[in-house]
Amino acid sequence: MAVPRNRTSNARKNSRRAHHAKTPKQFSECLNCKAPKLSHVTCSSCGTYKRSEPVSKP
Ligand SMILES: [Zn+2]
Repeated sequence: MAVPRNRTSNARKNSRRAHHAKTPKQFSECLNCKAPKLSHVTCSSCGTYKRSEPVSKP
């Protein structure tokens, strides 16, 4: 296995991790109950997806 020859400095480590920030999740509005929901996911409050009948999980 390759072993690093030099220690990575704190500045180099921190500047590499400057791009690691997470972006907040995007919420869309439920068409049925207007509650904020994640897109491409059934609504957590009413259980519908694109005005369809509530999806029952087995
Ligand atoms: Zn809903």
